[in-house]
Formats: sequence, structure tokens, C-alpha cells
Amino acid sequence: MKFNTKTIHGGQEHDKAYGAVMPPIYQTSTYAQTTPGGHKGYEYSRTHNPTRHALEKAFASLENGNFGLAFGSGLAAIDAIMKLLKPGDEVISTNDLYGGSFRLFTKIFQNFGIKFQFVSMQNAADIEAYINKSTKLIWVETPTNPMMNIIDIKTVAEISKKHKILLAVDNTFASPYLQQPLDLGADIIMHSATKYLGGHSDVVMGALVVKDEELANKLYFIQNASGAICGPQDSFLVLRGVKTLHVRMQRHCENGREVAMFLKKHPKIENVYWPGFEDHPNHLIAKSQMKDFGGMLSFTTKGNNYSEAIKIIEKLKIFTLAESLGGVESLCGHPASMTHASIPKEEREKTGVVDSLIRLSVGIEDIDDLLADLKQALD
Ligand SMILES: *Cc1c(COP(=O)(O)O)cnc(C)c1O
Repeated sequence: MKFNTKTIHGGQEHDKAYGAVMPPIYQTSTYAQTTPGGHKGYEYSRTHNPTRHALEKAFASLENGNFGLAFGSGLAAIDAIMKLLKPGDEVISTNDLYGGSFRLFTKIFQNFGIKFQFVSMQNAADIEAYINKSTKLIWVETPTNPMMNIIDIKTVAEISKKHKILLAVDNTFASPYLQQPLDLGADIIMHSATKYLGGHSDVVMGALVVKDEELANKLYFIQNASGAICGPQDSFLVLRGVKTLHVRMQRHCENGREVAMFLKKHPKIENVYWPGFEDHPNHLIAKSQMKDFGGMLSFTTKGNNYSEAIKIIEKLKIFTLAESLGGVESLCGHPASMTHASIPKEEREKTGVVDSLIRLSVGIEDIDDLLADLKQALD
């Protein structure tokens, strides 16, 4: 099955009771048993729920994996991955990552004796120098948030395989439409399904997908034992969102390209970060591992002028100032004070998250309206 069919049919079957084409919202916590253990595969909704199950199968199908898991948020999904580790274990993580992931690693899991090394992965082969006997997990986010750096997943996977280390990829920014890291050798795919998978800014949810059954069983155990699941109503909404992922992504990419080109030519702008530019440092890797370049980009004002950046943000009308990304509507954000406020100033400036940086999640509105909005805000 091709990807554009999988978004609609992948892992799905019609409802057994009445043939409903969409899985019903099984808004129930428990299931009747005829005799102890006499049930139809569902006992308690923390462990299993038919609506969530349908969504988990869709996730697995989209990422070319065998097993999908849905959680109450992206961070709950990352939390489950980290619980595969034990005190003394080490993680090598990209240094340019989602602020909430950095906070979870350093403020929660570091307290439980897990060590983190945050390294630049711009040259993927460099990470080998950080590996030791305690290294158990490599954490990759690509494209990175908000600097749009690209990490060579295949090269990292070769290193992780050689050293028998798990490789987890946060695939939120690309979505499975653009990039399928399991096929490049990753072991675990993580998504904030709040973003492109849900796609309509109406649900907070996380997802994991793996190929290996033993690894899947460990994660299912954690999902049930720690209990950070999502409800049936949210599962239904995200499953509905997933069905249009391919058409939405196609438009996000088209609009993202136009906006990137427009900003690059504008005299008030210093840098535009978008992996589709030929002069982007890892453009060729982006081209080889992604189908297109997505709808996310960021830019700085001339001379890193903070007040100019704030003025632009306040003048934008269609681009709404808000946290989050990946919905049908265009959003803008100020990483230094919003998504990345939990990262110390020196840390974030090292990776380029300066005070005038503005991040755009380019939506699927008419491109003429988006460009006109940017033009009036900049002029
Ligand atoms: C939003 C986001 C997360 C966290 O997901 P939540 O659903 O907000 O918990 C993790 N990684 C990336 C790249 C994100 O954009």
C-alpha cells in the first residue's frame, strides 16, 4: 500500500458490530466478562481500548513499523522511552531540541541517575567519540526545533547498530509523510501527535512506533504500568486527522517553500532557516532522507533586533502568536521566550536561538493571504 492510501486505510478494519467505517468512540473504562478472563480481548481501558487500538495500528502503518503506541502527550511518549533505562545509563542527545524534551531529560530523569550528553550532530560521525559502555540510547530530533538543522539518520543508525545502542528519533517536525526513520535504521519513532498527525490544533497526544516485538512489549508494559494513555475521544480525533495527513503536508510544503523564498529576499531579514535552501548546511542530507522540506521555518531580523522581531510578531494577523505547530492554521512563535524558555540563555544562544528568532508554522491557507500578512507586518 502506498503512503497516501495508508493514511486512510493503514491498519484499519471496519467495525465488527455494525460495519461503521470509522471506529466508534468506545467511551468505556471496562468490558463485561462472561467468566473470569472470558473477554473479547479488552479488559480495562488503561491497558487496551478499541478506539485507541485502531489509532495505534494506523501509527504503525504510517511509519512502516509493526507496533504503535498512543500516549496522553508527546512528552508522555518520551517519558515511556526513558523508562527503558536504568540509573547509570547514558543518553547522547542532539543539543538543538524541543525545550520540553530538554526539561524532561535534565530536570526529571537526571535525578534518577540517567546521564545526558547534549552534542551537535551536524556531522553525525562525530557522535562516536561520546559513546562509552554505559551509553544506551541516542536521541535524535530532525529537523531540529527551531533551527531547522538536519541530522543524518542513516549515519547515526549505523553507529548505534555497531555499538548496540537504541536509536530514537523525534519525527514530529517531518511527520511520516516526509521522513520514515525506521526505514533508515532507527529503533523507535516518537511523535508529538499534537502537531502534524492530529493536524487541527485540537488534541494533545503522543505516539511511538517500533518494528521489534521485544522492544514493543517493553514499551507496552511501561504504557500500561505507568498509565500515561490518551482517551478514546482524542484517539478518534487524531485518527480522523491522520486521514488527511498527505494532502495537508503537501500544502504545508508548498506554502512553506513560498514563505521561505519571500523571507529570504526581504531587506529586514538577516537569516532564514529552512532546509530546502541549497545553501543550508545539510541540504543534501535533507534532500536524501526527506520527501520535501515541510512547513516549518524560522528567521532572524537584521542585526538581531529584538524589538523589531516583537513588532513583527504583534503585527501579524493570519499568523497567530501561539505555542505549538503543525495545524492547518499558520502560527508564529518566539522560541526564546516561549518553547525554549526552559533552556538557559547561554545554552540556547549556542544553538542559534537568539532573541530576534521567530518561528513560523506555515499552515494551509491561501498562499497569497499568507504572503500579504508577512509583507504588511514587515513593512
Ligand atoms: C511539541 C513537541 C514535543 C512535545 O509534545 P507534546 O505533545 O506537547 O507533549 C516533542 N517534540 C517536538 C519536536 C515537539 O514539537
